[in-house]
Formats: sequence, structure tokens, C-alpha cells
Amino acid sequence: MSRHANSDVRVPVNEDSYSIKRDERKCLLCGSCRSTCKFGQAVYGYYDLEKTDDYAICIDCGQCIQSCPNGTLSLKHDYMEVLECIEDKNKIVVIQTSPSVRVGIGDEWGYPYGTFLEGHMVSALKKLGFDYVFDTNFGADLTIMEEATELVNRIKNNQNLPMFTSCCPAWVKFVEIFYPDKIPNMSTCKSPILMQGAIIKNYLAKKLNIDKDKIVSVAVTPCTAKKAEIKEVNSDMDYIITTKELTKMLKKKEIDFNSLEDEKYDMMNGSSSGLIFGNSGGVMEAALRTAHYLLTKENIKDLKIEKIRGIDGIKEAFVKIGDLKLKVAVVSGTANARKILKMIDEGKHYDFIEVMACPSGCISGAGQPKQDLMEMENVRKERIKSMYKQDNEAILKFCHENKEIQKLYKEFLNKPGSDLAKKYLHRTYQDKSHLLGEKEKVIE
Ligand code: SF4
Ligand code: SF4
Ligand code: SF4
Repeated sequence: MSRHANSDVRVPVNEDSYSIKRDERKCLLCGSCRSTCKFGQAVYGYYDLEKTDDYAICIDCGQCIQSCPNGTLSLKHDYMEVLECIEDKNKIVVIQTSPSVRVGIGDEWGYPYGTFLEGHMVSALKKLGFDYVFDTNFGADLTIMEEATELVNRIKNNQNLPMFTSCCPAWVKFVEIFYPDKIPNMSTCKSPILMQGAIIKNYLAKKLNIDKDKIVSVAVTPCTAKKAEIKEVNSDMDYIITTKELTKMLKKKEIDFNSLEDEKYDMMNGSSSGLIFGNSGGVMEAALRTAHYLLTKENIKDLKIEKIRGIDGIKEAFVKIGDLKLKVAVVSGTANARKILKMIDEGKHYDFIEVMACPSGCISGAGQPKQDLMEMENVRKERIKSMYKQDNEAILKFCHENKEIQKLYKEFLNKPGSDLAKKYLHRTYQDKSHLLGEKEKVIE
């Protein structure tokens, strides 16, 4: 007998999930979570509890939480532990902030959707007592240095194309479980948060003369899947909290968000290419900007690739870089990923594909403040617009022109793809298809 009651009408949830939980007393058996997981993410309905030994397959995207009408499903919290660390004077607690948090946090205080509140957010984190506040846009810039180099090498050698982006841990898990034959096509880059976590403990700690064992490394992000990622992948990160958890921390500490004066990051700043990682298509645009520079030694003239912007679940474009004409695709929602993987298996060619599990990308990650479902499309559009507006207005637009990134390579990593870069910034994958109840396979 299954321990997952009513699994025919709602998503089953494992007790030991790192990302989601359910309050059984409140469930309406409405089936909304099941529809989201099945039709948006193509997870529910693609496995059989009888074959998985009653283990619920889940990629930790958290989108079922956003569709649950009465908060029966919610994310697992880690913010109380982070507050305890802040109070421990023997610890140095550092935090990095994902791109999308700054365009989502204002919802909680009634700002117009998409309001860009970077300075307020940094100020709020300093008020909470974090010792250092860093921008994950820096980690995104670093990801692009590595990923664009990897893309250029694969294209030159016609090897393992299309290359898939790897910064979305829910997508990574989806591949490991359902499509392990595509593992060789995944970029080997860690996600930006994991890259930055590695640099904080293995480089910055020495620069700042801090014992790395005293550092508690935290990231605030819209992402529930990152909670699972830092537990399941060897990482230097200690805690992941979401935008929702940050708002709870501020309210618990009675910090008046509205009255804060804008403040700046302590260090580890990023370019606007790193910022647009939050939008579906942003990682692709950022990578192509730097790939263009690597291949031609000139910056791309037209920064906007309109065809891969916006809220459509599958977007495609041809992009010309020097003599190369690349076919690229941008996908959000893993159900759409299944569609594109089918097209590839049927012989359609792509060179580079970005996949994000959440609709329209991280700007609508499940850790963002929840909105009425009828409002969601409008919310997404406003957040996307806000990110691109910042990109338009930014002085530093290219990852490869970020002086702090250049310094990091000069002082520590040497160059993208170096042995040290591989050690700290890249990863391997596991074939997890055995979770479906199939025989374990070995990937070379
Ligand atoms: S977190 Fe994502 S994969 Fe897991 S049950 Fe919810 S919608 Fe499905
Ligand atoms: S969406 Fe929420 S209330 Fe509806 S079945 Fe799922 S858990 Fe229960
Ligand atoms: S799209 Fe972004 S927020 Fe959503 S699961 Fe992937 S990384 Fe996390």
C-alpha cells in the first residue's frame, strides 16, 4: 500500500524533500498541483510509484507550491538557522543575492510589480546583520566566462552539441533522472551560486584574512531547487533562503523595508549580462555576448536578441557570430524541454539550448512572493521588463569586462577552463534513472 494518499489527484511529496512540504490538514484535493507538475513540468505522470518503491520523483522546482490555492504546499524553511548563525559572534555570515530577488521582493510591501529594489535589498541584508553582502551577478559573470569558453570549444571541435545550460538545478535533475543519455550535452559549469560559493571560501577568505571554517555562506534566491542542490552536490554553500524567507526575516526583526536608504554591495559586483540571468533567455544572451568576443575579439554590436526574449515557453533564433551561424533555443518549463528533446532525437539540429524549469525563468521561481494566478502573467512581464531596463541603462554590460572577474582570473584561476577553474567551477553528473525503477546505467 502506498504511503502517498490520494496520489491520483495530487502530487506525492517525500517526507525527506529538501524543497517542499505539505500540511495534510489543509488539502482540498483540488488537483491543481498535479496539473502544474504534469503539464508544466512533465514530472507527475511520467513515473509510477509502484516501480519507484513508493518514492515520489521530484525536481524541486516548487511550482506546485505556486499553484496550490490555500498554502497546503509550501517551501521548506532554513531562515531560522541563518538568523541563529548571524547571532553567533564566532561566525562570519556572508550572503549573495540572485538576480531576480531584487525585482520580486517589493511585492511584499506593495511596490508596483517588477520594481527594481537592489539598493533597498542590500540595505535590508546589512540591517539583518550579515557581515558581507555580495551579488550573485558576479557568479553569473563567472559562469558565462566558463560556459562561453566551453561553448566555443565544443563548436570548434563539433563535440557534444547542442550544449545545454546547467545553471537550473531542477533542469539538471530532470536530465539526470529522465534523460541521462543527454548528460554529455550538459555544460559542466556549476550554477552561479555554487561557483560563487567556491570562490568565497577558497579565494576570498584568504584575501580577507578570514578562517574559511568560520564562514557561513548563504544565498538568497527565488529558487527552491537550490535548497536540494547544495545538499546533493558537493558544494561550499551552507544555506539557501528564498525571497519569501527574506521577507519573513525582515518582518521577524521588525525592519521597515520602506524606510531603508539604498546601500551598495561590499564587493563581488556583476555586469548587466549577469543580471539578466533571471529572465528566460538571459543566460543565452549573456553567453552569446561573451562567445562573440571570444571568437571575434570584438563586442557584439546589437545586444538584444528579441526572438529569445519574452514569456513563450520555446523560443528559437539563428545568431551570426563572425563566420558562424548558430541555431539556438530557449526553453522554460520542463514539459517544453521534453518537446525540444523529442525534436532533437528526431534529427533537428541546435547548437546551444538554455533550459529553465520555471515559467519565464527564475523571475517566477517558487521562492518569489506568491501572486494570484490570474495576475502571474502580468507579474512576469513586469519583472522581465525591469531586468532589461537595467541592462539597457547599465555601464558594465559584458561579463568579460567585469574588472573583479578579470582580477580573479589573474590572481587565482589563471584562465577560463584552467585546471583550477575545473576544480572549483565545474562539476560532474550522475545517471539517476534508476530512481524510476529501471536498471542503473553507466555513463562514460
Ligand atoms: S516541486 Fe516541481 S517536480 Fe516536485 S512535485 Fe512540485 S511541481 Fe512536481
Ligand atoms: S494544490 Fe494544494 S490543495 Fe490542491 S490538491 Fe494539491 S496540495 Fe491539495
Ligand atoms: S528556473 Fe531558476 S528558480 Fe526555477 S528552478 Fe531553475 S534555477 Fe531555480
